[in-house]
Amino acid sequence: MNIIVCGKVIPASSVTIEIDPNTKRMVRKGVTHELDPAAASAVEEGLRLTEKHGGTVTLITMGISDATIGIRSALAMGATSAVHVLDDAVAGSDTLGTAKILAAAIKKQPFDLVICATESSDSYSGIVPGQIAHFLGVPPVTFAKEITVDGNQITIRRQSETGYDVVESTLPALVAVSSGINEPRYPQLKGIMSAKKKEIKVYTAADLGLAPDQVGEKGAREKVLTIGRAPKREAGKVVTDEGEGGKQIADFLAEIKVI
Ligand SMILES: Cc1cc2nc3c(=O)[nH]c(=O)nc-3n(C[C@H](O)[C@H](O)[C@H](O)COP(=O)(O)OP(=O)(O)OC[C@H]3O[C@@H](n4cnc5c(N)ncnc54)[C@H](O)[C@@H]3O)c2cc1C
Repeated sequence: MNIIVCGKVIPASSVTIEIDPNTKRMVRKGVTHELDPAAASAVEEGLRLTEKHGGTVTLITMGISDATIGIRSALAMGATSAVHVLDDAVAGSDTLGTAKILAAAIKKQPFDLVICATESSDSYSGIVPGQIAHFLGVPPVTFAKEITVDGNQITIRRQSETGYDVVESTLPALVAVSSGINEPRYPQLKGIMSAKKKEIKVYTAADLGLAPDQVGEKGAREKVLTIGRAPKREAGKVVTDEGEGGKQIADFLAEIKVI
């Protein structure tokens, strides 16, 4: 089974995220990067499936050159190879542009199953997996908290508010996995050493047959209009109970229309 994992490489959790006031984009250059923990779970799920059924796991990421560190982490975990879409022309892509690029890169590989994380840990729009499935023309099976494959059939437990639904699809398909689906393995020394020899294919937008006006800032139909800091939390109201505390709380809740 050929599995593609779409995984984002993001500013490390130790980095204080800054937004460039001019471009209104997250400052990604010059900060430490890591494989998104959500993507690590997607890689782990791919590895577990290939350990059971055989096959390959290919990580695909779109990102700046600093993304290499995260790609190497996935390879050290055990992914077979990787694809890096690396091109200044794709900077400024919105979610649709991102999905277009990732789908074009996936189409250049043999694949039976695409695994994404439900949402990334930095932008978490949660839109990209559905859009990739659309461009690939395969069913999206989402919010998976357990995956089983039998022949060309995939069955997932789809997380719901009250428990889970069982959803089946034939392959090829795209699965978006929920956070907490597994505990990703830590790369071992042997894996780290062998990762250095594994193939990372690098594509530009042109390699993927995408014109400059289809991707990046030029192709983006989403525009960030304003950004601002969340308002500071106001100090809480202290109610001292001198016999009327309950009434004061009820009046307060009525005032803010909670009751
Ligand atoms: C106007 C505008 C300009 C932007 N400019 C930039 C920019 O210059 N650089 C930039 O990095 N972002 C930029 N962004 C943000 C960019 O659109 C999102 O990072 C990207 O579309 C993914 O969105 P998300 O992380 O919310 O995806 P989600 O839908 O939350 O991601 C879900 C899953 O999709 C897959 N996925 C998503 N993105 C990638 C990826 N890059 N590689 C591999 N798999 C992926 C992963 O499996 C991920 O877990 C811009 C956004 C806007 C609106």
